[in-house]
Amino acid sequence: MRNRNAVVTGSTTGIGLATARELARQGCHVMLNGFGDRAEIDRLCAEIAAQSGTTIVYSGADLSRPDEARAMMAEAVAALGPIDILVNNAGVQHVAAVHEFPDDKWDLLLAVNLSAAFHTIKAALPAMRERRWGRIVNTASVLGMVGAPHKPAYVATKHGIIGLTKSVAIEVAEHGITCNAVCPGTVLTPIIEKQIAQQAQVTGLPEERVLQAVFLDRMPTGRLIPPEEVAAAIAFLCSDAAASITGTAIPVDGGYTTH
Ligand code: NAD
Repeated sequence: MRNRNAVVTGSTTGIGLATARELARQGCHVMLNGFGDRAEIDRLCAEIAAQSGTTIVYSGADLSRPDEARAMMAEAVAALGPIDILVNNAGVQHVAAVHEFPDDKWDLLLAVNLSAAFHTIKAALPAMRERRWGRIVNTASVLGMVGAPHKPAYVATKHGIIGLTKSVAIEVAEHGITCNAVCPGTVLTPIIEKQIAQQAQVTGLPEERVLQAVFLDRMPTGRLIPPEEVAAAIAFLCSDAAASITGTAIPVDGGYTTH
């Protein structure tokens, strides 16, 4: 993947950061995106660039806003050149029963987890089609394949992004472009850490029981998935070797969706 240009959204922490590191390690120039302390993000970019010898840039675009998503893609082209690899990974969660679910959280989850990917894909495709090569990977979830209580917006957006993945894959298959989703089980990242208190509230479980009862008991492997394992699957889907894999939703889930 030497000298491929990649955009990885939501890559200041967790799965996205591990993916940006892995793509850079394999020779890609990468635009990172996401929220966080600017000095810490600059330090991360410098560290990845020093380790990989590739160009690493950052956009703080708020992907809940379509104009910022489009501007980020334009900025990436200006900084790196035409984009070969797009990983739509930014995601947010909110835990509440449907009848109490705040309207603004519903709108936010739809915007970040689903609509942002539409806007970035729309921006990236013309150059990919022209160059007859492209890789798009969307981070869905096991909750794109099965339901779960108290997460109506998250489950809807993750099912939605798998639908978008399949639709795009068919449309661009003849142009050397693949589009796939990965479906992680439980990866201990800030998105999970922030849910522990909300889950304790809606389930009535003590906080120290939530991780085991809500997340780990559903994975036959019984262990948290390291972000690097999801990143490795994403990087494979971005490789030349994965040219015939398209329109799929690949579980990286410790067996979560087997039962
Ligand atoms: P995370 O909270 O560490 O990462 C989320 C990233 O998205 C961060 O970089 C954050 O700054 C960014 N982000 C949030 N809102 C944004 C916005 N409006 N604009 C731009 N960036 C924004 O969590 P993670 O677990 O690494 O999540 C990455 C993806 O993996 C998400 O799509 C999530 O739904 C999915 N996922 C996670 C798990 C898990 O167990 N952690 C399981 C399945 C799927």
